[in-house]
Amino acid sequence: MTRKVLPVTRPDLPPLEEFIPYLEQIWENKWLTNNGPFHVQLEQALGKYFGVDHLALFANGTLALITALQTLRISGEVITTPYSFVATSHSLLWNDMQPVFVDIDPLTMNLDPRRIEAAITPRTTAIMPVHCYGYPCDVDGIQRIADTYGLRVIYDAAHAFGVRYRNESLLRHGDLSILSFHATKVFNTFEGGAIVCPDAKTKQRIDYLKNFGFADEVTVMAPGINGKMNEFQAALGMLQLTRVEHAIAKRRELDRAYREGLAGVRGITLLQPPAATEHNCAYFPVLVESEFPISRDDLYARMRQADILARRYFFPLISDMPMYRGLPSANPSNLPNAQSVSRRILCLPIYPSLDVADLERVIDVIAGI
Ligand SMILES: *Cc1c(COP(=O)(O)O)cnc(C)c1O
Repeated sequence: MTRKVLPVTRPDLPPLEEFIPYLEQIWENKWLTNNGPFHVQLEQALGKYFGVDHLALFANGTLALITALQTLRISGEVITTPYSFVATSHSLLWNDMQPVFVDIDPLTMNLDPRRIEAAITPRTTAIMPVHCYGYPCDVDGIQRIADTYGLRVIYDAAHAFGVRYRNESLLRHGDLSILSFHATKVFNTFEGGAIVCPDAKTKQRIDYLKNFGFADEVTVMAPGINGKMNEFQAALGMLQLTRVEHAIAKRRELDRAYREGLAGVRGITLLQPPAATEHNCAYFPVLVESEFPISRDDLYARMRQADILARRYFFPLISDMPMYRGLPSANPSNLPNAQSVSRRILCLPIYPSLDVADLERVIDVIAGI
């Protein structure tokens, strides 16, 4: 018997026959993109699901990030985290803005508000934190600093689909929040994304910007981009939305089983979302400490030999990549927590179709070392 390969994540897809009626509808409508019927439906349905009033769909999360910065006319320096997927900082370079890296809190893996103030200069206009692993940032601490210094806050909430914090959607915090519906995320439309925004006027501006800047047939109000979600993606999103609660429930079961199975393993530290978080269990990150018999990278390699494709999210740090490492704030001495965590982190496989026997195989490999 060949052993199953366990990727770190596997996209959750509906049975194909359930998608056929949606495709038939698109073929009948002959409306393929540009605010079609499924696009309209999905914006409404997701807004309702999250409990937010305004949301604009995008072709992917990166275009949503880039457009969010333009929506608020951000410029100059933006304070952000080095501990994220590279798209967070890339969206700043695409807008000619300078990322200023601030260290993370080693318990939440998120931007540490206590370190933000020291990084503010007269050129600072915004803070772009990430709800890493869907663990809520210190949203109050960040907002207090933003209010004091007149800065905007744009959350990269790509990991935070469906996460609730203190009994409301985490997406209600900050000026804007960005989601990704990439294949690897908790909710996928193959590729896709969205901006959550507070009012109709902002949504209007976003809708112009994602459609080349067209305000009407003859008026172009800004050098916008083509960031529109198409009807195929939106239709799939409508179907996926009927399944996502079940998918998150399954992830929670797996999360519990990992916590039980790894609780006593010496040298493995389990991470916890902050209190009052209803988590989506998008990832299962652990820290491989010096008490563990082998190094993080050796464990990663051993798991690969066992066909378990754990991933080092996030390693390397964004601030260590060639296009960022020359920045003054990218100096490793400025980012000791992020440096330390990125050398110890390992994300274990978690996805709805992972069965308990697979999960036990993962635990056995780690515990057996
Ligand atoms: C996935 C991801 C993105 C980018 O989203 P895409 O939809 O793939 O463009 C941005 N930021 C973070 C933190 C992500 O994980």
